[in-house]
Amino acid sequence: ESQKETLGFQTEVKQLLNLMIHSLYSNKEIFLRELISNASDAEDKLRFAALKDDSLFESDPELKIRLDFDAEKNTVTLTDNGIGMNRDDVIQNLGTIAKSGTAEFLKQLSGDEKKDSKLIGQFGVGFYSSFIVADSVEVFTRRAGTPVEEGVHWQSAGDGQFTIENVDRTERGTQIVLHLKDEAKEFADGFRLRNLVKKYSDHISFPVVMKSESEEEGEKGEYETVNDATALWTLSRSEIKDEEYKEFYKHIAHDFEDPLTWSHNKVEGKLDYTSLLYVPGRAPFDLYNREAPRGLKLYVQRVFIMDDAEQFLPLYLRFTKGVIDSNDLSLNVSREILQNDSTVESIRTAVTKRVLDMLSKLSKKEPEQYQKFWNEFGTVLKEGPAEDFSNREKIGGLLRFASTHTGEQAQTVSLDEYIGRMKEGQSKIYYITADNFMAAKSSPHLEVFRKKGIEVLILSDRIDEWMMGYLNEYDGKQFQDVARGDLDLGEVETEEDKKHKEEAAEEHKNLLERIKTALEDRVQEVRVTNRLTDSPACLVVGDFDMGAQMKKIMEAAGQ
Ligand code: ADP
Ligand code: MG
Repeated sequence: ESQKETLGFQTEVKQLLNLMIHSLYSNKEIFLRELISNASDAEDKLRFAALKDDSLFESDPELKIRLDFDAEKNTVTLTDNGIGMNRDDVIQNLGTIAKSGTAEFLKQLSGDEKKDSKLIGQFGVGFYSSFIVADSVEVFTRRAGTPVEEGVHWQSAGDGQFTIENVDRTERGTQIVLHLKDEAKEFADGFRLRNLVKKYSDHISFPVVMKSESEEEGEKGEYETVNDATALWTLSRSEIKDEEYKEFYKHIAHDFEDPLTWSHNKVEGKLDYTSLLYVPGRAPFDLYNREAPRGLKLYVQRVFIMDDAEQFLPLYLRFTKGVIDSNDLSLNVSREILQNDSTVESIRTAVTKRVLDMLSKLSKKEPEQYQKFWNEFGTVLKEGPAEDFSNREKIGGLLRFASTHTGEQAQTVSLDEYIGRMKEGQSKIYYITADNFMAAKSSPHLEVFRKKGIEVLILSDRIDEWMMGYLNEYDGKQFQDVARGDLDLGEVETEEDKKHKEEAAEEHKNLLERIKTALEDRVQEVRVTNRLTDSPACLVVGDFDMGAQMKKIMEAAGQ
């Protein structure tokens, strides 16, 4: 077991490495943030494990991250005294990618650098980003609480395989040695590294220490802390710069693009917690994968408890990233406890509202940014009215639709805008659903609306008809499917229109009967309509029948 073995990377890792090295060379410096982020996570995990077993601290209770470099040997070395890894952990974590759906995702790679670098952003880079700057990477690690002989040495040139062997290691935790490529020599420099730590990792919870380069006697060569080392969310809003919020987001979200917006709140009183919530600028590749991790990072009294605490948010807000730090929960809380805890329930209600308010504010103050959000996450938010009945009015205000007003497929029209354009006497919000935008747009059901100049929302996402089943009204106005039931145009329908319809019905009574007989049990009723101006006839769904789109979904599900 202790001998050296050579193992191949999982295929997906090879693809990812290739992609990363070729598409991120202009973004080299992010490797340091990724490695410090991992070190900080490892310290968090150790502190959590030590809550139950403080022997895990061994003789080294002061959690910190050490950064060294050697300009002659061209190395950068990052050492943490966190949880560490055993041999199996290393093979698993540094040889494979555990995220499900990875293989399918990586199939989309095109070889076009620009496109691919976008994809990789959706994916996250992590440890493997070391190979952007290093042509050889060594990892020395020992899992907290395991014997010195169970230390592990891993080495790879990022070319498809790695070696692994057991070595003696007295220190707990992980050390990563990067042997820099020629074109990345610049990183073996104290000034450069200090700047990067400040830039990317100022407000992680642990000190990053480096050897002092000061010329003063007694300081030179001593380790000194180079970051602020206070968890960002514990500071007050006024002390935090936008840049710092953004960097912290990248640290917790494993993203390397900026978030669209955030909301940071300290709550005191009946509940006592801090929340820092972010809306990402881009959907992760596995947004629609049911097993994909989601949720917030949970801390209790500043101590990290778990990642992906999903109990603090409803499913339709699963794109939200962030931190909850509670003073009410016990340090012993487990996922099971979270599931039916009344404190958690209250925090969830409040956090849900915060996210909705944050989105609402974004939509008003920065409509362009909001549109970006909608394009990425709109279909997820559309799950909201069904999942969260109590907030459906708020969610309604956040929805965006295609509409006959713009005539464009892009979903840009809000219900408030629609209402602002309603005709005098119009009391309902009209919409049409169809399989695709073009089909909806050319539907004969729209003829009368076009004639009267009444706007109709065009819904063609798979989820739309289902959503409308839960969205009965907004701002006191009912929704009306234009393809359903007896079309009532309210005051917009003139007396003349009505009279015309009645007369026509009388006049064509026999014809209507004959058509109905001919179609037998395939229709419920045949009537004269004012719906149409050009087409001779159209199909209408009964008020309480399943819509066409819904029928297809049910059929596809084998019902
Ligand atoms: P992520 O951080 O998103 O999980 P990474 O590629 O950065 O992905 O890291 C993969 C895994 O390797 C981590 O989840 C962790 O289990 C392990 N790992 C990486 N760095 C360290 C470290 N310094 N100490 C302990 N485990 C680590
Ligand atoms: Mg990581």
